[in-house]
Amino acid sequence: MTSMESLIGLVNRIQQACTVLGDYGGADNNAFSSLWEALPSVAVVGGQSSGKSSVLESIVGRDFLPRGSGIVTRRPLVLQLHKVDGKAKEYAEFLHMPGQKITDYAIVRQEIQNETDRVTGRTKQISPVPIHLSIYSPHVVNLTLIDLPGLTKVAVEGQPETIAQDIENMVRSFVDKPNCIILAISPANQDIATSDAIKLSREVDPSGERTFGVLTKLDLMDRGTNALDVLEGRSYRLQHPWVGVVNRSQADINKNVDMIVARRKESEYFETSPDYGHLANKMGSVYLAKLLSQHLESVIRQRIPNITSLINKTIEELESEMNQIGRPIAADAGAQLYTILELCRAFDRVFKEHLDGGRPGGDRIYNVFDNQLPAALRKLPFDRHLSLQNVRKVVSEADGYQPHLIAPEQGYRRLIEGALSYFRGPAEASVDAVHFVLKELVRKSIAETQELRRFPTLQAEIAAATNEALERFREESKKTAMRLVDMEASYLTVEFFRKLPQEMEKAGNPANQATPNVDRYGEGHYRRIGSNVSSYISMISDTLRNTIPKAVVYCQVREAKLSLLNHFYIQIGKKEAKQLSQLLDEDPALTGRRQQCAKRLELYKAARDEIDSVSWAR
Ligand code: GDP
Ligand code: MG
Repeated sequence: MTSMESLIGLVNRIQQACTVLGDYGGADNNAFSSLWEALPSVAVVGGQSSGKSSVLESIVGRDFLPRGSGIVTRRPLVLQLHKVDGKAKEYAEFLHMPGQKITDYAIVRQEIQNETDRVTGRTKQISPVPIHLSIYSPHVVNLTLIDLPGLTKVAVEGQPETIAQDIENMVRSFVDKPNCIILAISPANQDIATSDAIKLSREVDPSGERTFGVLTKLDLMDRGTNALDVLEGRSYRLQHPWVGVVNRSQADINKNVDMIVARRKESEYFETSPDYGHLANKMGSVYLAKLLSQHLESVIRQRIPNITSLINKTIEELESEMNQIGRPIAADAGAQLYTILELCRAFDRVFKEHLDGGRPGGDRIYNVFDNQLPAALRKLPFDRHLSLQNVRKVVSEADGYQPHLIAPEQGYRRLIEGALSYFRGPAEASVDAVHFVLKELVRKSIAETQELRRFPTLQAEIAAATNEALERFREESKKTAMRLVDMEASYLTVEFFRKLPQEMEKAGNPANQATPNVDRYGEGHYRRIGSNVSSYISMISDTLRNTIPKAVVYCQVREAKLSLLNHFYIQIGKKEAKQLSQLLDEDPALTGRRQQCAKRLELYKAARDEIDSVSWAR
């Protein structure tokens, strides 16, 4: 294998793979970076009937292109020529019909037509999706050429009004690319100044470094005129020499003049021409094919480092995207169960980071205990409850028909019990506040668990299971917090009351009774009772401010850390294979994207291997 064959062959194979993946010159809405664009190619550009198809055919040396009036070429034809061993049999093969070696060119022609209609639907529409045709022959040079629809000015019947613009846009999308070599076809029997091919190529390649000018129909020029001004670069200068060709005339085609005969007639034409004789060895389609092949090869050689680095960069990008998307899901129930448990654990890790620190949110629980609870306790309406009026009322009611003699035991108890019931509110509010913080943290954790992202169903199930668990913890926590309050009411701290100054002594000492017994049940008495109860209650308040957080953490936070998903695990363990796979039904778009990435990755890796294997030839 010579280096030239292997280089062009390499690009051929990469181009084929690109098309399979929907990556080709005309595609503009491609989500992937285009490898196609990095590959050099030769596009044939020219006005309608300028002789594009004829040039292609004489380069190949075979009749294989559909012909007819109007716009026959309506999809790009990527024609890959592969030179094979002198004794090998010649055949053609379409990329869309792999393995079918076609030796009859009439069939090739028909298939190009059919395949065009398949995409454009027999309307006269055009499509940028290329048809790939490979020709394996001892008579060709290694070359890839793209035949494009001819530039036109007016729409014929059945064609949309925009056809001229549509075609120009499509041709432009190919020739715009800096790696595209432009084969600009102009007929010699028309003023070069009016050539569509030159007009377009001048726009996209003003310096003319990637344009090859081809002049067709030299034989059709008026007697006494010649195209030497063009061919010798005086009319329009390009970096590369102009090449003149003489293709078969319509009459030749009708008479089925053989391509080989036509090639021979072409070289005779130049050799015997009084005008072009001195240029004979630089004219004709055989020379053109060689020139292009050599140029393409040298361009590829130059671009290999770029292509390699693009390939490596893309492989990296694809691999990192594949990592993000995650592995495909296993089919058997055991592996699925394992995957689900892994995903749950991943979620659990994120959740714990929120609680324990590392991720924000856990501090909001502390805020409940440090701010909300004390503030709520401070706001309790003890002033009203222990107002003189209410104390007197409660104490009197407790006394019944006989007022208390020394200290109002029952009155104290009722006042205290009444006050304690106020603590239920803040206790319950703390439980609820922490519940909502936990719920929010669960929600966040589900969203933040990368691995879960592609499993909406599992996400929903985890959300449901955790909410249910949090609800249970809340109930338990509420019961415990209420119990703390009730416990305070069920047994009063005796010592507190023993330390109080004894009412009885003051009241019962007859020596002090200047005004008999008026003060006994007066305001001072009730105020004292109120203030005693108040200081008892504030002692309880201090206790509860400390114990309610303990109950809440014990019942809710600790429980969430230990057993948030326990019930869920039990349910999962009972599920059938089918239900498990339902939990793992990822978004179909993601499945598609993974497949696409994987295919592309395979292509790029294969391309890298190929490049590695030929670069020694440089
Ligand atoms: P396309 O529309 O650009 O693909 O043009 P074709 O290759 O189909 O050619 C249009 C017509 O011009 C056909 O009838 C060809 O036989 C004819 N033709 C193309 N090149 C030459 C040439 O060099 N000499 C002569 N005499 N006819 C040509
Ligand atoms: Mg054509």
